[in-house]
Amino acid sequence: MKGGVKGGVNREPAAPVAPVSAVQAVPDASPPGPEQRPRVRVLGTPVDAATMAEAVEAAGVLVERGRPSMIVTTNPELIMHAQGDPELGAILDGADLVVPDGIGVVWAARLLGHRVPERVPGVELTEALLALAAARGYRVYFLGAAEGVAVEAAARLTSRFPGLTVAGTHHGYFGQREEPRIIAEIRAAAPHILFVAMGAPRQEKWIARNLRECGVPLCMGIGGSLDVFAGRVQRAPGWVQAAGLEWLYRLVRQPSRARRMLALPRFAVRVLLDAARRNLL
Ligand code: UDP
Repeated sequence: MKGGVKGGVNREPAAPVAPVSAVQAVPDASPPGPEQRPRVRVLGTPVDAATMAEAVEAAGVLVERGRPSMIVTTNPELIMHAQGDPELGAILDGADLVVPDGIGVVWAARLLGHRVPERVPGVELTEALLALAAARGYRVYFLGAAEGVAVEAAARLTSRFPGLTVAGTHHGYFGQREEPRIIAEIRAAAPHILFVAMGAPRQEKWIARNLRECGVPLCMGIGGSLDVFAGRVQRAPGWVQAAGLEWLYRLVRQPSRARRMLALPRFAVRVLLDAARRNLL
């Protein structure tokens, strides 16, 4: 499949999603699906104990199966949000794969006695899925971020991942009245993977609400990743990431995040209390 970007509005006739491959036709040969991963619980919410490589493999299986599915990258903020939001709790429970994005989730899971191998940062999982998409000819669609960002990200990513086909893009600032048109555009673009970059939990709720109608095999919320791919936001330097301090870097660069980051100490206290209740400290 040839790579390339088809800008904002897709004007091409509907292209069918590639047929489900041999993975489904020969079940015995298929790699393990996400449901085979151990799923642990942090403050009542699910976390799948998958490595980055396992998450990519599971995502590939979900695309090949062709049924609408959803990956969530979870972090302390999202978990704290879910404590008072049953709708979000149900979405997390129903997700096909929930990977530990934040270092806080890995810390919490381990403290609670679970084996969670490593952090799976959403932006890196997205990059790995884009590489997979380029290699296998999966079309991707970017929905979200400010006007122009998704187009810019798509342009940069198609040169970074030769063979990548971006089937369409749309910014993430729209009202409900525009939703049917956007969904029709996504359906017409027939991507294999839909990346929704509208911030958590807005993007998770949007995906859950529109998953069936979009008819995309794999959907994933990617937060501010399009801003990073478009070069508008810098990720923390490698050593800051390795020290588990990317959250602090983001706070210093974007002080407006301070209020939402209050969820982090609240999360830590809740996890410590939970661990103490279970005699794990
Ligand atoms: N965004 C959007 N629509 C909205 C609100 C936000 O598309 O109605 C975009 C925003 O432009 C940004 C992303 O969602 O690109 C949110 O990034 P943030 O870093 O806050 O998300 P997080 O990674 O923390 O979930």
